[in-house]
Amino acid sequence: MAEDKTPQQEIERWKQKYFAVLGEKDSVDKSLAEGEAQLRRSLSHLSLATDGIHPAMDPLLRELRNAIRDGKPSATLPPLVEQVLEISSKLGQGAAAKPSAPAQDILLELLDSLRLPRGMQRKVKALRNRLRQDGDSQATSALVTQLSGLIDEALALQAGVAGIHAEESPQPGFFTRLLGNRPDKGDAMASSPASDGGAPRREPSRETGHDHDDLVALLNKIHLPGTEQTRHLLELRQRLEQAPVQKEIPEIIDQLSALLSRTHQHHTGTYSPDEVAMIQDVLCQLLERLNLPTQFHADLTRICEHLQEELEPQALMPLLEEIARIIDKAHTLSEEEKAELEGFLKNITQSLLEIDQHLLGTKQVSQQVMEGSRRLDVSMEEQVQGIEASVLAATDLPELRKIIESRLSAIRTHLEQFRTDEEQRFAQLDQEFDQLRSHLADVEQESIHLRHKILEQHQQALRDPLTGISNRLAYNERIHHEYQRWKRYRDELTLLVWDIDNFKAINDRFGHHAGDKALRIIATLLSKNIRTTDFVARYGGEEFVMLMPNTTLESALPAADNLRITIAQSDFTYNGIRVPITISCGLAQFRDDDTEDDVFKRADGALYQAKHAGRDKCLTERDIVTE
Ligand code: GH3
Ligand code: MG
Ligand code: MG
Repeated sequence: MAEDKTPQQEIERWKQKYFAVLGEKDSVDKSLAEGEAQLRRSLSHLSLATDGIHPAMDPLLRELRNAIRDGKPSATLPPLVEQVLEISSKLGQGAAAKPSAPAQDILLELLDSLRLPRGMQRKVKALRNRLRQDGDSQATSALVTQLSGLIDEALALQAGVAGIHAEESPQPGFFTRLLGNRPDKGDAMASSPASDGGAPRREPSRETGHDHDDLVALLNKIHLPGTEQTRHLLELRQRLEQAPVQKEIPEIIDQLSALLSRTHQHHTGTYSPDEVAMIQDVLCQLLERLNLPTQFHADLTRICEHLQEELEPQALMPLLEEIARIIDKAHTLSEEEKAELEGFLKNITQSLLEIDQHLLGTKQVSQQVMEGSRRLDVSMEEQVQGIEASVLAATDLPELRKIIESRLSAIRTHLEQFRTDEEQRFAQLDQEFDQLRSHLADVEQESIHLRHKILEQHQQALRDPLTGISNRLAYNERIHHEYQRWKRYRDELTLLVWDIDNFKAINDRFGHHAGDKALRIIATLLSKNIRTTDFVARYGGEEFVMLMPNTTLESALPAADNLRITIAQSDFTYNGIRVPITISCGLAQFRDDDTEDDVFKRADGALYQAKHAGRDKCLTERDIVTE
């Protein structure tokens, strides 16, 4: 039987019920608000982590972050997330356009795999940012130069650092330092703290479904290429389902963003043949611009030739590794050379010390000799005085004879002692001297060997590795010398600047390899067809510079024209196809108060005029038309 309640009690009961419902609603609202805030944070976090993966995604991610930051209504967020997911899943299937040029990707990969010295981190970062942006092939070429410059700088820096620490404990190899201990890409997930099973896991308690469900939805929509990535994605999904605790969600998001970035970085397998060819071209350019010693040129040429062939995308990574290995070897070699030089300096120092000690010894010996002869003098004097005294005092001849005999015997003993001492001292000096001489002979041999080596290296440093003719450094040395001569004797001196016509088109049509071959042939033709007193150098790229001493502008022009015609008539073929090549030239002669730069500028101006006049021409400074 229902308990009768007074109206007052009934009102009180309803009031309680109302407050209870109100409290429940408050707590639901609160947990919803918490959930939403968490979701907003997570989305913002995820959008930051995935920023830069694809240019089409970046504005959306920015919009998403702004919407979250400005506290826009929740309803505005799902459409944005949907759009991001759509692009992301297309990316995962490899259907979308790649975020940046593949050449940049591979350079980025190379840059990431090189652990460059700390002091260069700012430059590395700047280059990484540039590589992340889209760019045309010209930009790529500049990036290649920048990267090779960085590697050269790292080599120089490492050599310097190694020099400072030469006395300390042995350092790890340059390669180890350059590449660092890269974690195995496949193990990165396994070693992350979330999956090591070490952290105690909280009892599953589903608090609010908001972020959790959205995250599950997000994970369900992501498709990644490759079984490894898919396996990691599945693991994340399972983790989310089994332990959907709010606090774990940011950690799962962290792992998801890491997985997405890794997937982005390692999707080389999806490159198209055209992209692979472009990467090959860029790598080849990088190799040419690395300024490594000649003993590595054969290896570099082999790799470059390999890069001319049609390659599968997966063949690129081993080549990259090989390039890194060669750079490492070059570094080791420079370290060994430095060690050799240090050893030589140590030997020289040791020899100088020995000479010093020997001289000191000689001085001591001569002091001893002087002391010995002084002592001998004194004892002789004593004996002679003794004899004199004995003679004066003698009364008995046999007695006197005995005394004189004993005195003479003492003199003989002293003389013998003196001679023996002398002989010993000189023998010792002789021995020391021989040792010193043999040591000095060793040092001399070593210094001859090193001098040859330094000379050889200097010669190498003056050669252009691609064409084998002099390079810009050699030109700088030669022009300085010729200029000094010209200033002193005022003989005629003419300077010529050469530039291959439409060389870019040759590279573009026939490939970089053909361009290189053309450069070698032209360099040979130019150097073989000038006087031995003339000089030619590869000034850079497809430009050459020439010096003709004792030659006026008037006589240099027909010589230049002959060279130009020889090149135009050369039967240059590549893969059986005839490739027409022409070259243009600008000439200027040293006069009055000219500096080296003045003449170069005038020759360059004439070259510009030759290009302007239709190429395959040699023009002099007199042809320069000032507009
Ligand atoms: P112009 O007749 O006006 O001189 O035109 P160009 O195409 O020769 O001149 P441009 O400066 O536009 O291009 C020069 C090209 O030379 C671009 C670059 O890729 C190429 N080049 C520079 N150095 C090398 C090299 O070492 N090997 C190869 N294969 N090409 C190079
Ligand atoms: Mg040029
Ligand atoms: Mg050119």
